[in-house]
Amino acid sequence: MASNRGRATCTMPHQNIPMQDLPALHSRLEPSLSESIARVVASGKYIRGVEVKALESELARYVGTPYCHTCANGTEAIQIALMALGLKPGDEVITSPFSFIAAAEACKLLGLKAVFADIDPKTYNIAPRAIEALVTPRTRAVIPVHLFGRMAPMEPILDVARRHGLYVIEDAAQAFGAEQDVFGRRLKACSVGLIGCTSFFPTKNLGCMGDGGAIFTSSEELARRVAMVASHGAERKYHSTCVGLNSRLDEIQAAVLRVKLRHLDECISRRQAAALRYRAALAGCDFVSCPDMADGHTFNQFTLRVNYGCRDDMREFLALRGVDSMIYFPEPIHRQPVFAEGEDPATLASCPRADEAAASVLSLPMHSELSPEAVGAVASAVRDFNIGAVRRAKGAAS
Ligand SMILES: *Cc1c(COP(=O)(O)O)cnc(C)c1O
Repeated sequence: MASNRGRATCTMPHQNIPMQDLPALHSRLEPSLSESIARVVASGKYIRGVEVKALESELARYVGTPYCHTCANGTEAIQIALMALGLKPGDEVITSPFSFIAAAEACKLLGLKAVFADIDPKTYNIAPRAIEALVTPRTRAVIPVHLFGRMAPMEPILDVARRHGLYVIEDAAQAFGAEQDVFGRRLKACSVGLIGCTSFFPTKNLGCMGDGGAIFTSSEELARRVAMVASHGAERKYHSTCVGLNSRLDEIQAAVLRVKLRHLDECISRRQAAALRYRAALAGCDFVSCPDMADGHTFNQFTLRVNYGCRDDMREFLALRGVDSMIYFPEPIHRQPVFAEGEDPATLASCPRADEAAASVLSLPMHSELSPEAVGAVASAVRDFNIGAVRRAKGAAS
């Protein structure tokens, strides 16, 4: 029996809609990008020069914190933050099980215990009530992750942290530029907690052409410690006072980021416009749930929840229609071997909402250059998905 899927692909014009299109964005920002890179090449100064210095003050101004220190990547930004706060082996840090592994990994690397608090199934962000339930006398910090471009609910998180004396470290790698009203003030991601960390990985909201990261704080003392930790534990050259890292952004990446920072708000608006179009085009499609147009959401990803257990079938179907999609994230962190192995299954974190999310989320193409036509084509592919036909075709094939 011929499968429905086979027929669907035959009648469709060839298309390929990728998750990202960085060349399109970068060509739109020419010739500024090439001119900036050429300026660095000609300068002969490639590490810790004028570009990094200027970028750090531009980033600090954008975020609204007095201090910004750039570093090698977003994972090290979190590690540096934990080291600068002086956390010690055995200290507990509460974070999200449904995220990229960076925050949990940085904890583990430093001998800290990552404790996983379940998520809000609607936003995929850590649930403040779940945080409070896990606080022990050893808990020192909480790392909310602003997932997919949407900030975690910072008011209740700050409340929990204040009640229990916890440091708040924001992982804003996916939400640089996102905003939220926090106790009557409009604040940007990275400026709400004691320390904010972000990544300039190419596909983040503000991405460079390689690796990069940054750390933000309003505390002068903490800023001093961050700079020291990121530079071999030395405040002055060849005189280290603590163990640190070699973690720096280079001048070429800084020059690229300075150009792209000027376009960040516009790029975020374009993502929001694409999200609105997705929502309109998918309205009434009952087998998927779209993310909310939450205030300040930057849509680093546009992540659907696919209902009725047919996420993997839908992903296959979209691929046949030339539509790329990704599963962020297929396995919650507490279930990955690095955290689960050797753990007593009885004491393994129970995060059923993270498990459900890992089994049902699907991220669609989303970036600042995504055209209305591409959104329409992706949405019609999603709408054309027919669970019954896919299941029957699979049955017939096996
Ligand atoms: C990308 C990402 C990071 C790490 O960034 P790198 O620059 O790749 O190290 C950390 N946390 C989250 C949630 C991320 O998505």
